[in-house]
Amino acid sequence: MAGHEQLSETARIARDLIRFDTTNYGEGRSKGETEAAEYVGAILADMGLRPEFIDAAPGRTSVVARIEGSYANPVDTARGERPALVVHGHLDVVPADPANWSVDPFGGEIRDGMLWGRGAVDMKNMDAMILTALRQILGGGGQPNRDLVVAFLADEENGGAFGSHHLVTHHPELFAGATEAISEVGGYSVDIKGRRAYLLQTGEKALVWIRLRTRGTAAHGSRVIRDNAVTKLAEAVATLGRQEWPIHLTTTTRQLLAELARLMGSDPEAIGPQGQGADELLLRTGTAAGFLTATLRTTTNPTLLKAGYKHNVIPDAAEALIDIRTLPGEEDAVLAEVRALLADDVEIEVVTRDVGLENPFSGALVDAMVSTLRRHDPEAEVLPYLLSGGTDNKALSELGITGYGFAPLRLPAELDFAGMFHGVDERVPLDALDFGHRALTDLLSTY
Ligand SMILES: [Zn+2]
Repeated sequence: MAGHEQLSETARIARDLIRFDTTNYGEGRSKGETEAAEYVGAILADMGLRPEFIDAAPGRTSVVARIEGSYANPVDTARGERPALVVHGHLDVVPADPANWSVDPFGGEIRDGMLWGRGAVDMKNMDAMILTALRQILGGGGQPNRDLVVAFLADEENGGAFGSHHLVTHHPELFAGATEAISEVGGYSVDIKGRRAYLLQTGEKALVWIRLRTRGTAAHGSRVIRDNAVTKLAEAVATLGRQEWPIHLTTTTRQLLAELARLMGSDPEAIGPQGQGADELLLRTGTAAGFLTATLRTTTNPTLLKAGYKHNVIPDAAEALIDIRTLPGEEDAVLAEVRALLADDVEIEVVTRDVGLENPFSGALVDAMVSTLRRHDPEAEVLPYLLSGGTDNKALSELGITGYGFAPLRLPAELDFAGMFHGVDERVPLDALDFGHRALTDLLSTY
């Protein structure tokens, strides 16, 4: 279509990145990360930086570069007093089934003023914004205001063993002197009763991925078999899938609910001390409710089933994967409760677990992010929120780095942006990419 030649550099880089199929299938299987890292590395080198490529395993490449700050704003007398900031993105994406999509998920199509494709939302948009913000700052002979570590990581979509966790464990020197980080799933706007509210991600839930296994008697499919592994597994899966976990409010969710009540003109008392009214308040936020309700409680979602091999054979074992997300610090208590909910002969194996995070909605970096959004969108309301998913900030927290979600995007009210993470027809408005580029350039130049 016409207009391709007018794409901004941010949109062009995001489109190029979408065209690298960097699908992360899980269990160590992936593709395209090395090619995407080389593409990003070439852009960094073109800016005069020295990208370092780290392969956690063949094909699992991350690329990291360090940029010296000017410390000019205000002039620092002791530059050591302002630590480095990590700005990171991941290069992998979750799988996309083209049959479900309106466009080729790896085509990087421009349609209706938006860039479409797997990663347009999560998170090749932000990868591109980071690159063009740096290019703009460095291109004019400038410098960011403090030292930056920019990292484009592999394997985020499967917990980061071949990406962030590998770097943190084997190459911590890459992050030397850094105490804070910004990355994905925050800083984008949602519509709250006609007001544009930017959700700044100040924390994330913990994750505990478990495998359930049941064993039984293998037999002909026509027999009377009470000890059926599939039946036992199905009962366990239904129990966890239907479990109503109670609301537990944290500092972040209390702040968010109070702010939402204010914006919507609701009585904040209606939330109740234990959060009994919280769901009702969140449901009135429209599309945002879809992911905010999950931040009030634990979730235990069955995501994969494996059993059997023939219609007339009862198998001797069955397996299910359950994706558990708990509030920060509740992992062990929830695991104990899951154990108690299931029959004794259901085996539970913890496949992966990672910490939750909860950081203050205050301090110099938060102030800088909030004021940046307000400079670029004077009507902006900025609210803290806890992410129901997880990011590479979990791994960085092992180095004492406090991570926030700040990928600034000014979005149209009707776009269900949060619903497109890992969804079909991921797309991001071209003008939102340019907004993000400007806001990020501003933040990195001044913070
Ligand atoms: Zn992501």
